[in-house]
Amino acid sequence: MIKILLIGILVLMVARAFWRVVDGILDGARGGNKGGNERGGSAVKLVRDPVCGTYVAPTASLSLSAGDTTHYFCSEQCRSKYRAA
Ligand SMILES: [Zn+2]
Repeated sequence: MIKILLIGILVLMVARAFWRVVDGILDGARGGNKGGNERGGSAVKLVRDPVCGTYVAPTASLSLSAGDTTHYFCSEQCRSKYRAA
């Protein structure tokens, strides 16, 4: 009788371990997608080039300070055009 009980507990433990592994795989697949979405929220804010209208990242573009505002340009050509205007 005790033997049957022990076998029953063993089967239960194995089943539990099995489902934990399956849950882990499913959570991993779901978690990977979730993490990608959260990372997308920290996207770089783009600013508009006032000369040609192209959207550029402030960190990777040429800038020109005019008073208390800073304009960003896609290229040196646009910046010199804006200066001349
Ligand atoms: Zn431009």
